[in-house]
Amino acid sequence: MGKNKLDKFYNRTIDQRIEALMTEKYLEQRPIDDFKESLILPEEIANHMIENQIGTYQLPLGLALHFLIDDKEYLLPMATEEPSVIAAASFAAKTIAVAGGFTTEITDRVMIGQIALKGIKDKEQAIHAISAAEEEIITIANEAHPSIVKRGGGACGINIRWIERDQEQDTSSFLVVHLHVETLEAMGANMINTMVEAIKPYLESLTAAKAVMGILSNYATECLATARCRIPVDVLARRGLSGVEIRDRIVEANQFAIADPYRAVTNNKGIMNGIDALVIATGNDSRAIEAGAHAYATRSGQYRSLTKWTKAENGDLIGELTIPLPIGTVGGSIGIHPGATFTHQMLGYPDAKRLEAIIVSLGLAQNFAAIRALVTDGIQKGHMALHAKSLAINAGATGDEVKKVTQALRKAEHMDLKTAEQILAKLRS
Ligand code: NDP
Repeated sequence: MGKNKLDKFYNRTIDQRIEALMTEKYLEQRPIDDFKESLILPEEIANHMIENQIGTYQLPLGLALHFLIDDKEYLLPMATEEPSVIAAASFAAKTIAVAGGFTTEITDRVMIGQIALKGIKDKEQAIHAISAAEEEIITIANEAHPSIVKRGGGACGINIRWIERDQEQDTSSFLVVHLHVETLEAMGANMINTMVEAIKPYLESLTAAKAVMGILSNYATECLATARCRIPVDVLARRGLSGVEIRDRIVEANQFAIADPYRAVTNNKGIMNGIDALVIATGNDSRAIEAGAHAYATRSGQYRSLTKWTKAENGDLIGELTIPLPIGTVGGSIGIHPGATFTHQMLGYPDAKRLEAIIVSLGLAQNFAAIRALVTDGIQKGHMALHAKSLAINAGATGDEVKKVTQALRKAEHMDLKTAEQILAKLRS
């Protein structure tokens, strides 16, 4: 991983980091200013991406280091506004790399489109009619978007669900038809929406019922990604705490997040700190991934931790994370946003399954870092250092002042903006 050359990456200036990446061949050699300019979203493109565009809203783009995923090394580009997320991911990845890295398992990439039918008179007859017409339904769907079939994907099956009327919630009963679609390298929202709209009238005619809507489901339960890691206890030991003690505390903390939704939400938010940052950096739809992940956390009937940490028979700590990851490597803004073009290049142009493997591993790393901090030093220690820096910048510190004000703030009685401003004023006088 060009280990020595990227050592103390965080201590370098931005230009030195870019230079090191070029020397280590993670980036092609070119003038640094050219590289920086290549990441800027041109107004012309931004204006075509959304409506009523008036400017761009930028996020810092950083790199998480030390990731070893299925025996391959990666630097992960992350777009985030939150301090300490990238540091935590890198720290966790370094520990996990020592223990052999992440292994992943990715299911087939099958996305789901739904058509909800209302006013079904004879449920059994409707289900029978739809089941018998499965082939025709698939044909109509594929004829609506033939190019994906030519590429080797397309609609491949249906699933029928009956949702009973719920008096308490005042909802009707629905017959829901799921269309399963292999979307290959795309997330597939647009092709699926085209397909479900095409089969809607046919389903209405088969059932003499009214279709409420046809739309993609972001609950992509047929497109799951799992990352695992296995960490020997001697790798876990740190500052006066044995590896066994830390392992047991991590397992216990995880059990708390499995049992209590109040903790689970914060636990899963931490997982999404990393996942969102990489999903955004690669031009993917973070809202789709967030919605699907949180829904998946409720699959047992209660909102729970998405990760599971257990003790192996030989005493190792085993971590596992599974989430739906309907991302793409084509489509949406991926091919037109220069930042996304860069991040796909940085990752070595992974295909969609590989990108899923990378993203889910980052989520597991993020969770490991957060839980380990919580059961040892607490997370405030690391956070406050970065918070001090942010206060120094907010107070107006620039250049060398940032470091000086940050250091003084960390020793001050109160770490707040007023104190930062006072320190800066004193420094300048
Ligand atoms: P696009 O429609 O932009 O792109 C997908 C298209 O890329 C395919 O239809 C296909 O078109 C083409 N393509 C080229 N190479 C491949 C390949 N190897 N595998 C698959 N397709 C390929 O995007 P998506 O349909 O993926 O939708 C994603 C966008 O939709 C995102 O911007 C998302 O935010 C948005 N969206 C999300 C919704 C949601 O609920 N999550 C709802 C609506 C929109 P062809 O074969 O014709 O060349």
